[in-house]
Amino acid sequence: MKNPDTANNPSMEDLVSLAKRRGFIYPGSDVYGGLSGTWDYGPLGVALKRNIMQLWWKMFVDDADNMYGVDAAILMNQKVWQASGHVDTFTDPLVECSNCKGRFREDKIDTSRCPNCGQKGTFGEARQFNMMFKTHVGPVQDDNSISYLRPETAQGIFTNFKNVVDSFYPDLPFGLAQQGKAFRNEISPRDFIFRSREFEQMEIEYFVHPDHWQEAFEAWIAKVHEWTEALGLPAESVHELEVPENDRAHYSKRTVDFEYDFPIGREELLGLAYRTDFDLGNIQRVSGKTMEYRPKDGSAPFVPHVIEPSFGVERALMAVLSAAYWNDTDNERIVLRLPKQLAPVKVAVSPLLKNKPELVAKAREIYALLKKEFGAVAWDDNGNVGKRYRRQDEIGTPYCVVIDFDTLEGENAGTVTVRERDTTAQMRLKTDELIDLLRK
Ligand SMILES: [Zn+2]
Repeated sequence: MKNPDTANNPSMEDLVSLAKRRGFIYPGSDVYGGLSGTWDYGPLGVALKRNIMQLWWKMFVDDADNMYGVDAAILMNQKVWQASGHVDTFTDPLVECSNCKGRFREDKIDTSRCPNCGQKGTFGEARQFNMMFKTHVGPVQDDNSISYLRPETAQGIFTNFKNVVDSFYPDLPFGLAQQGKAFRNEISPRDFIFRSREFEQMEIEYFVHPDHWQEAFEAWIAKVHEWTEALGLPAESVHELEVPENDRAHYSKRTVDFEYDFPIGREELLGLAYRTDFDLGNIQRVSGKTMEYRPKDGSAPFVPHVIEPSFGVERALMAVLSAAYWNDTDNERIVLRLPKQLAPVKVAVSPLLKNKPELVAKAREIYALLKKEFGAVAWDDNGNVGKRYRRQDEIGTPYCVVIDFDTLEGENAGTVTVRERDTTAQMRLKTDELIDLLRK
């Protein structure tokens, strides 16, 4: 067997094709010719995405003792986006080709030549294009009824800061976490699910005393690495980029982008930013309500500062897929070497032969037992056993269980064949040993 670590490097086409073929991700509105920048998740994609999001919630919320979850509405009062600066400044520079009318993000192309029609000198001045999707709430369409599909989940956290402090009065530092959809009207969505118009975020606002932001920031860097490791991403493919001052948002005193070696190159996977008291300060100014935190020791109240780790679900999923994808040429198979806890299917069960009722009955019994215990269990009796293994390898199922005649009688009665995905090694286990193995 080749060293799996050197047999990787799938192309983007490999991932897109596997994702579509095996029911992970489809182009959005595909049957009507699609809708640019949108993607739909099929049965295995939903499972993988939820497993990533649940792992995140467990690591950062359930396993921590100072984290609180929130789930704010997607539609928010327009004052949120005025106060945050999104209405005025959440823009990308848009240029249009006077020849082919193609529209592009000025900072993403060489404007001396149109990337669509090839003409030179067809671009004029860029104009600032606001990326928020605008809508109206209620039957009257006027300036007062304007709302937006939120372009980030973060503001839904900040607007609930005071609610949570009033309800729980947590000690500082503490964090608020949220997962949910966000929307950006990208000028040029691209690279599969990497940059789409509708996506999902997992964000934390971690509130600290202004004097202690540095140690909190360092602790978050370490936590981010724990996260990328749990996703199965090789450490050498994850890179910290210290964002220089002139590239940072004006309110941020320090930002570290975590980049990953995707098939499209080294790109941002997630970001960690020190946002000072910028957001709570804005809310305080525009709403007229105090955002001060009153320390329990009676010392002077202050507006907390914030460290923000911001994760994109789709980018995490794309990184997971590309790290897991393995073209095992020795065994002529494609394998998704997903971490067990992320695999959409935990184990597949099949009878050696589907025309032997005694095998099928026993296999059904074991299937029902495992299903009750683990939920995500597949029944597969199509084709021969070799083909079943290949199919399960391709969707990342860690184990396949086969019920054969030895299960029914003889010295191995009561044992099943368990085949391991990455090594293809097979072993015979009793059902309680199998359950222990799957629990690990
Ligand atoms: Zn053109």
